[in-house]
Amino acid sequence: MAQDYYATLGVRRDASQEEIKKAYRRLARQLHPDVNPDPETQERFKEITQAYEVLSDTNKRQMYDLGGDPFSNGAGAGAGGFGAGFPFSDIMDAFFGASGASRGPRSRARRGRNATIRVELDLAESGFGTTRELVVDTAVVCEVCQGSGAAAGTHPDTCDMCHGRGEVSQVTRSFLGQVMTSRPCPQCGGFGSVIRHPCMECSGEGRVRTRRTIKVRIPAGVEDGTHIQLAGEGEVGPGGGPAGDLFLEIVERPHPIFERRGDELHCTVMIPMTAAALGTSLTVETLDGAEEIDVRPGTQAGQVIPLYNRGVQRLNETGRGDLLIHVNVETPTKLDPQQEELLRELSKLRGEERPPGKFSPGQQGFFSRLRDAFNGR
Ligand SMILES: [Zn+2]
Ligand SMILES: [Zn+2]
Repeated sequence: MAQDYYATLGVRRDASQEEIKKAYRRLARQLHPDVNPDPETQERFKEITQAYEVLSDTNKRQMYDLGGDPFSNGAGAGAGGFGAGFPFSDIMDAFFGASGASRGPRSRARRGRNATIRVELDLAESGFGTTRELVVDTAVVCEVCQGSGAAAGTHPDTCDMCHGRGEVSQVTRSFLGQVMTSRPCPQCGGFGSVIRHPCMECSGEGRVRTRRTIKVRIPAGVEDGTHIQLAGEGEVGPGGGPAGDLFLEIVERPHPIFERRGDELHCTVMIPMTAAALGTSLTVETLDGAEEIDVRPGTQAGQVIPLYNRGVQRLNETGRGDLLIHVNVETPTKLDPQQEELLRELSKLRGEERPPGKFSPGQQGFFSRLRDAFNGR
């Protein structure tokens, strides 16, 4: 009978998969041939790896628990040999963590940065969409070296310090024995190659700064603070790396008449007391041009007259919001004697010379109106 796999990994027979994995990784760090090359340790390493291969596989573990040896008839898995199921990725994980895949020289090409530019729009532009030509300062691939950073007719040389590996290794002694550590090559900065003759145009950076004009379509319904992402329109990365994204940040200029709340527009119109009482028709400005509205007789201050579908376009949707016209009633002042006489007569006719006044419950309305007054609404 082969070794006791549980004892080899130092786990109990009812250990969970997670415990088995942990135990294996812990041992593998100590016993890996790179760390500790003496033959006895290597033999131990093979043992724990074999034990792990069996116990980490539910089927093989079950077979083993029932007394079978999963290696006795396994293909190509003789004593001390490694079967087809050699858990290579686990060993890589144990040693190099998640970054195991990125070992070796790193690429000079890196992704470019994102950029953000502010775009100021009028209400009509943000509400209905527009097209803008924007001038952006950015970086583009150097045309002379095509991003390689090397002067014309030359190419990067393999680094003679790390021989193209991008990292240098060092063996130090520790209480675990010899430990090999790696660090990025100081001569080539981890690239594995050295540019001896940098491109004159871009000083070896592979990109040059430039000013570029791009035409962008801004969709209807954007508002103050909206960000629009233009993928790949940011600056090109060093070494000719892929471009970052360009973000447009919308800044909406205040409109002299309309205040926007989402897709609704609000405005306030002041009408004389007499017009409010008798009714009238008014010409109001909308984003679509002037329109006639009816003010019905007996209209009160604070009443709202809606103009449906005269708000702004909904972003990424069909349809528009409404325009809401808030009516304010102006009390006449500076009355001449004749006007005053007429008003007194009216007041007498209506029995309003000493009105009782009407009080509404609560003060909420009062305070919100006060707040609106302070905010200039
Ligand atoms: Zn260049
Ligand atoms: Zn190097």
